[in-house]
Amino acid sequence: MNCPGGMLVYNQGIKSYRDLPMRVAEFGKVNRYEASGALMGIMRVREFTQDDAHIFCTEDQMEKECVDTLKLILDIYKDFGFDNVKIKLSTRPDSEYRIGSDEVWDFSEKALAKALEKNGYDYEINAGEGAFYGPKLEFVLRDAIGREWQCGTIQMDMSLPERFDLSYVGEDNNKHRPIMLHRALFGSIERFLGILIEHHAGKLPLWLSPLQVMVAPIKSEFDDYATEVQKELTKAGLYAKTDLRNEKINYKVREHSVSKIPVIAVVGGREKENRTVAIRRLGSQQQEFMPLDEFIEALKKEATMPSMDK
Ligand code: ZN
Repeated sequence: MNCPGGMLVYNQGIKSYRDLPMRVAEFGKVNRYEASGALMGIMRVREFTQDDAHIFCTEDQMEKECVDTLKLILDIYKDFGFDNVKIKLSTRPDSEYRIGSDEVWDFSEKALAKALEKNGYDYEINAGEGAFYGPKLEFVLRDAIGREWQCGTIQMDMSLPERFDLSYVGEDNNKHRPIMLHRALFGSIERFLGILIEHHAGKLPLWLSPLQVMVAPIKSEFDDYATEVQKELTKAGLYAKTDLRNEKINYKVREHSVSKIPVIAVVGGREKENRTVAIRRLGSQQQEFMPLDEFIEALKKEATMPSMDK
């Protein structure tokens, strides 16, 4: 885990209440010696990357930090096409598996529950599944075949700040202990990617596709126009390539459909003459004709991440 590193960053120099909340993020490598039978594709691996952050705040700031992070997580999931996200509140493990006093556990569990209830979020209690240092909120996504995967998390921690002797100078000029929130939005980047690919059955929305448009001429005499179309698309910020191989157009279309390229732009004599393109969408048998400029404008809009398109 990366948590101790986050605390050492905090402990550089004296902190005042004016410095809080302080948020430190990193992409951290995490290692777990999973049983070989439990390993699965990129879903469960022994070394993965976590989009980790530690938020140091005062008791008064804690609820807002939790709610803001929670909203951020749900917004991001929505962008990726996940609307059905389950929230679980994991509470204290058995006494031999936890640190910190019962009062601290009481306070932390109640604070997280209150943050959820006040903001109208439904949740389930996951009794005894909290981290050894504090309770946590877990965000569970469902993949295409109904398996549930824990992705994001917000964990409240009043114990490690004590063990690492973290403090800040309050408005009253006295030393106080900050609360620390551990948070990950995606959780394991590898796992999130796996769930995302499964969720869309490989057909990623245009804004997520690594290759968005394949431009294919029906004959090599239209290679110039195909290249021009590709250049215009690239200039507009889209990921486009040409397929200038000497193959039949149906062969090209089939091949690029199998590799799940969302848009294939077919060009021939008529298209070149009228400055248009014939568009084949992944999963559709229909062919649509459009002026090149209009086509580019429509794709630019579609290639924008949903929450940025406002
Ligand atoms: Zn942590």
